[in-house]
Parts: sequence; structure tokens; C-alpha cells
Amino acid sequence: MLLRPDAVVASVTEVTPELLRELGVRAVMVDLDDTLVPAGSELLEPLFRAWLSELVAAGFPVVILSNGERRRVERYARELGVRGLALVGKPFRHAFRRGLRLLGTPPHETAMVGDQLFTDVLGANLIGLRSVLVSPLSPGKLLHTRALRRLERRLLRRWQRDLAQLQGAGCDEPPKASPRLSTPPRRGWGLWPSCQ
Ligand SMILES: [Mg+2]
Repeated sequence: MLLRPDAVVASVTEVTPELLRELGVRAVMVDLDDTLVPAGSELLEPLFRAWLSELVAAGFPVVILSNGERRRVERYARELGVRGLALVGKPFRHAFRRGLRLLGTPPHETAMVGDQLFTDVLGANLIGLRSVLVSPLSPGKLLHTRALRRLERRLLRRWQRDLAQLQGAGCDEPPKASPRLSTPPRRGWGLWPSCQ
């Protein structure tokens, strides 16, 4: 299922080194708008800045991978002390290949963390990255984003029901990272079980 993320969390701050190791990941691409900063806003939470610094300090190289405009992406990349790629063209594969070239890791050891199923998750899954979905920081600036968000919510609800069934059938070992994953995540589930 190309649209289904490997993990769902409420916020980037839940993308801990422990979770990344559990996913087998050594490097991270992170979306900008509605993942780190609300779309159309300039507000970068100190909490998110601290999260990114901690990840880098723990040895995970990070690249911002955004479809947003160059000046905005460069500004935040500079502010956060990481590299940033703007107007990359997610969900197309070439966008993620550019990120991989900067990070120097193979796809299966690299995570894409973002708020949209149809750009971040779909593109990541197409090229074999580990995909992590975060709850969006705003309802979306563009009309089509808002429409896609409604579809995303429907899909997430369906997967959540599927997951509950799998867990009910004794399929899922509780993921090791789950206590850290959820307080609780707004979407209610963490790692997708590996047994299905
Ligand atoms: Mg986004």
C-alpha cells in the first residue's frame, strides 16, 4: 500500500532516535510546511528546533525536503543549521533522490517525515524510504490541500480500524517505541505491525 506510512505520530518531537533505530533508519528528510512550521506562518516552535538539534547531535544527518519556495526553505535551513532543498517536486522520485544524494544513505536506511500522505508518504514509499506521518500544524493554506486532508483523514480512520482488528487478533507485538510514541498521538496509532 503506497499511501500507508510506516509510522504515524502526532508531532516531529515524537520522531526520536529510538523510533528511527526501530525503523532501521540512519538519516532523515523532513518536510517544512505544516511539519516544522505552519503553512503561511513564520512560527518555528523552539521545541521543534530543539528536536532537530538533538537528532543531529545523536548522529542523524537531516535535510529539509520541501516543495516550498526557495527563500523560505533556505531561511529555515540556515536557521536550523541543516541543508535544505526547495521546490523539489514531491511526490516524484527525483525529489527524494536529491535528498538521498545529500544524505549519502540508501533509501531503506532513510526516513521521510512529513504531514501529507499524497506528497511525503506516497513519494517516500515509491522509492523505498521509511515514511513517518505527522499531524499537520495547520488546516492547510491551499484549497486542494484542505480537500486532500479530508481524504487523508478518511484513510487514516480506516487504517486505524484495520490496525485495531490486527491487534485484536493478537497479531501485533507492542512496538518497543510505543510508550514514547504516543501521549497519545492524535491519530491514535504508532508503528504499523510488522506481522501483516
Ligand atoms: Mg507539508
